[in-house]
Amino acid sequence: MRYDVIVLGAGIVGVSAALHLQSRGRSVCLVDRRSPGEETSSGNAGLIERASVIPYAMPRQVSALLRYGLNRSPEVRYRVSHLPRIGSWLFQYWRHSSPERLLEATNAMLPLIERCVTEHDGLIEKAGVSHLLRRSGWIETFRTVEGQRKALAAAKDVAPYGLRFDVLDPEELKRREPHLGNTPVGAIHWRDPTTVSDPEALTKGYARLFTQGGGRFASGDARTLSQSGRDWVVTTHEGPVTAGQAVVALGPWSDGIFKPLGYRIPLAVKRGYHMHYGARDGARLNQPVLDFEGGYVLTPMTKGIRLTTGVELADFDAPEDYGQLDQAEALARDLFPLGERVEPTPWLGRRPCLPDMRPVIGAAPRHAGLWFCFGHAHHGLTLGPVSGRLLAEMMTGEAPFCDPTPYRADRF
Ligand SMILES: Cc1cc2nc3c(=O)[nH]c(=O)nc-3n(C[C@H](O)[C@H](O)[C@H](O)COP(=O)(O)OP(=O)(O)OC[C@H]3O[C@@H](n4cnc5c(N)ncnc54)[C@H](O)[C@@H]3O)c2cc1C
Repeated sequence: MRYDVIVLGAGIVGVSAALHLQSRGRSVCLVDRRSPGEETSSGNAGLIERASVIPYAMPRQVSALLRYGLNRSPEVRYRVSHLPRIGSWLFQYWRHSSPERLLEATNAMLPLIERCVTEHDGLIEKAGVSHLLRRSGWIETFRTVEGQRKALAAAKDVAPYGLRFDVLDPEELKRREPHLGNTPVGAIHWRDPTTVSDPEALTKGYARLFTQGGGRFASGDARTLSQSGRDWVVTTHEGPVTAGQAVVALGPWSDGIFKPLGYRIPLAVKRGYHMHYGARDGARLNQPVLDFEGGYVLTPMTKGIRLTTGVELADFDAPEDYGQLDQAEALARDLFPLGERVEPTPWLGRRPCLPDMRPVIGAAPRHAGLWFCFGHAHHGLTLGPVSGRLLAEMMTGEAPFCDPTPYRADRF
């Protein structure tokens, strides 16, 4: 089985890269140990987050650090035992979160964020999955006047980027989301993002488009990747697959390939949970709602109302701790008439993060034919298709639509 390219990882990032390579005439084999879209790309909040032009930085105000330090905040939880292992990564993250460096990260990410909705729109239409898409944006609610003041200040910071948003008083919020309770003192309705009702079905829809276009999907373990002369070979259930080029798009598992090859890329994970709920008394949610102080999102999904939590800093495979989800659920029940939990066990996922808040997209510096595309952090659903385009342009020698320097692998 010989192809031009092997793409390792069939999350939203790998599937999108495979589609963009295919549309440039490359024969592609997509390899995953599961079916497409069943890991991180399945469990997110479903936001194609055009409004996040400023990456999620580490707070540097003493008050915020103290609040997180108490380890009772629903937005961020940590395991004390994890701190020695994540300490130097957090220090780098803190350094990159200074105002000057955050501006640098913002400018670096802007070309990707600006195209995120357009890139998805093209694929959504071709894949025939428009029924999953909502164009109504998302709503950010505030419980306190102080929260509202902070969020409005943050909104003013992004206004120069041309984003559209409405500031809502409680009456207007009720008109747009009639079943929210009386907790919010106000809200912002972000108009530019789109959202999806089933991110796993979206990724599977894109993967179907890829196989219908002649692409091959094979089950196998990416860690069998090896070099044979100028080729890359991976063992799949159907036998060895060989190609001149290979792409590592394994999301939070990407270090399983780059570490043994000797790359020291500081990839860490911010874990997060989700659970689906019914709605009491026929209540409906029209679009995702972020509780600004609660740090969780409620999204209407095909399986129910999905609550996604903030960040948990814990070892990759540390046992689940549902305290953060329970706390967010209690807050969410104030905001919306959630019914019973739909599943017996919450979902756990891992956001693949680099400390300078941008992904790695580009050639592996010391291995000819090997390419990296991972580390999309809080915005992998948003950025999958646009990253796939940039990677495919670089791999095929086309002029890249933006300067790829900020994402190169040897920047650390
Ligand atoms: C709670 C939460 C909420 C989020 N909300 C949003 C949101 O609203 N919007 C947004 O844009 N992003 C959001 N994200 C982030 C987003 O989900 C991720 O950035 C994105 O899914 C990463 O995609 P990926 O393709 O890189 O990784 P993945 O989807 O994890 O794909 C990696 C693939 O590699 C495969 N794999 C791993 N190891 C091997 C191996 N050894 N062999 C073969 N295959 C292997 C896996 O099976 C998987 O399919 C959220 C994340 C979380 C956790």
